[in-house]
This record gives sequence, structure tokens and C-alpha cells, in this order.
Amino acid sequence: MAFCPNCGKEVSPEAFACPNCGHPLRQQRPVQSPAEVNASKLGSIKTYLLVAFIFNILAVIAFAIGALFFLVLVFIPFLAILALIFFVPLILSIITLTRINQMRSAAERGDIATLKSLNSVGWGIIALIFAGIITGIFLLIANGPINELTQ
Ligand SMILES: [Zn+2]
Repeated sequence: MAFCPNCGKEVSPEAFACPNCGHPLRQQRPVQSPAEVNASKLGSIKTYLLVAFIFNILAVIAFAIGALFFLVLVFIPFLAILALIFFVPLILSIITLTRINQMRSAAERGDIATLKSLNSVGWGIIALIFAGIITGIFLLIANGPINELTQ
């Protein structure tokens, strides 16, 4: 328990003001400037993009192994379609990886205009389907905070 410096009554240490006399006990959090809000948002955005990037790399590796393994099927009638199961996601996951990499470097440079222009729910959904569920989820999680950034 803390004591009010004004009236001496016992007050909760969490109280912003004394409930007895109204004396202010501690400073309320100062309002953050837009630059500070941006900086703290960019911190989380970089983390989300890093997670998306790592899981996208894993997806590319997995699809590349699958594609290599099923390469032989391309030459077998009726089975060639099976190879597409790996080749289509392989190509799309490489595209999403490139995009995420561009977003990461824009976030690193603090280039908010570029980051916003690359930010897209559509690509998040494509990543969700073709570049790993976790990749897509983190790309979609980053979408909101990127939209909220001020230039
Ligand atoms: Zn008081």
C-alpha cells in the first residue's frame, strides 16, 4: 500500500489519483507522437514479416522437394496433373517470398509508402493457400498495422 502525499490516506499503488482528496499520484502515460506510434507498429510489423518470411522459405523448400520428386510424372500421361500440385505452389510461393522480402526491406528502411503499396489482403490469401498457412496468417496479421501507419 502507498500513502497519499497530500492527505496521508492509504491509497492503491495503481491509483492515478487519491480517492480521498483527488491529489494526482502518478503521471498518466504521455500521449505518443505519430512518429512513436509508427515506430512501435513497425517493430511488430517487422516481427510478423520475419515469421512469414521464414515459413515461406520452408514452404518453398517443401514444394521444391515435391516438385523434384514428381518431375518424372510430367512425362507420364494422366499423372502429369499431379506434378502441378507441386509446381504451381512452388512458383506462387517463390512470388510471395519475393514480395515479403520487399516488404521486409521497406519496413527496415522505414519506407512506409512502399510497404503500404505492397500490403494486400489478396496476396495474404494467396500465401495462405500456396505458401503455408502460417505464412498467410502472419501476412494477414501484418495487414492491419501496415494500414494504420501514417506517412
Ligand atoms: Zn489524498
